[in-house]
Amino acid sequence: MIGERIQQARKASGLSMRDLAAKAGISAMAISKYENNKNTPSSGVLLAMSKALGVRTEYFFRQAKIELKEVEYRKHSELPKKILNKIEGDVIEQIERYLQLEEILPTSPIKTFSLPKGLMANVESYIEVEKIALSVRKSWDLGCNPIPDFIDTLEERGIKVFQSNILHDDKFDGLAAQVNGTPVIVVGKEWPGDRQRFTLAHELGHLMLANRLTEQLDEEKAANRFAGAFLVPAAEAIKELGESRSWLEPVELCVLKHTYGLSMRGWIYRASDLGILNQSAARKMWDYFRSNEWVKTEPGEPLPPERPKLFKQLVFHALAEDLIGESKAAELLCMPIVNFRKLRKVSNCEQEAFN
Ligand SMILES: [Zn+2]
Repeated sequence: MIGERIQQARKASGLSMRDLAAKAGISAMAISKYENNKNTPSSGVLLAMSKALGVRTEYFFRQAKIELKEVEYRKHSELPKKILNKIEGDVIEQIERYLQLEEILPTSPIKTFSLPKGLMANVESYIEVEKIALSVRKSWDLGCNPIPDFIDTLEERGIKVFQSNILHDDKFDGLAAQVNGTPVIVVGKEWPGDRQRFTLAHELGHLMLANRLTEQLDEEKAANRFAGAFLVPAAEAIKELGESRSWLEPVELCVLKHTYGLSMRGWIYRASDLGILNQSAARKMWDYFRSNEWVKTEPGEPLPPERPKLFKQLVFHALAEDLIGESKAAELLCMPIVNFRKLRKVSNCEQEAFN
């Protein structure tokens, strides 16, 4: 029903009924009636609301109603409910477009996610968390090398990755949920690549470790350990750094960050976890990082953010096979048709199509 859709869009934009009323030039009472399906808005009113809410009018008529299940926020307590709603609304909108496209494609080229077979059932130590990370790498045929495109790696295995622009401050720390049985992970669009990748690997860790950890293990610590081990397997870390070190040069860490997509701080944690740095050596490193104010923003060239590509590829696939027309393709990509036509002529293909 259109009422639920109006409400969903309003919540997603963080507006109260009164805010929307003021923005769209209608009364709050009228909005309440629309949302409760007691009255149907005219096309003029729909247009005004779509402008005020920043959605297309088609949005109000879409049938799909999805829900995010098993939502896990890494720092849920610090984010106001209003902003959480906004992020959820943004993500739901993206997922809906995805589901629409999947319905259009005759055979879905998107794999269904399944857990790798033979993962250890009871994980009793953080060393065993590392073993799980290695098993996942093995079953996904990733070998031991750096993972060049993390988002692509997940999408290929049926995990949907979305990005949200709503917040790029420190408080939003990634989101994982289930939609119709498919795992969904959301990261900030403008985060540096290493932050995106660590969050993705952390959420992947939750997914792989669920119901396996014995009580004495802390779930968050285990997910972090998984993330480190998945991005840089122990053997690789030792190969790069050696078995025992008293100090790691920042330049070394910066090079490794760009090779493995794990932050410099991530490398210090990794080196401590693996005993390459002992406690006092690690403390020295952290003191140095803090005194240089490198804990929040690392020195050197930042790692560029990654972008999901699968959805866009599939839109062009559907267009090429005449399953959709240009206006539908533009709608799915949330792009004005004029821009879409330019894009179709492959102007700045790389940057525009996949940004
Ligand atoms: Zn977590």
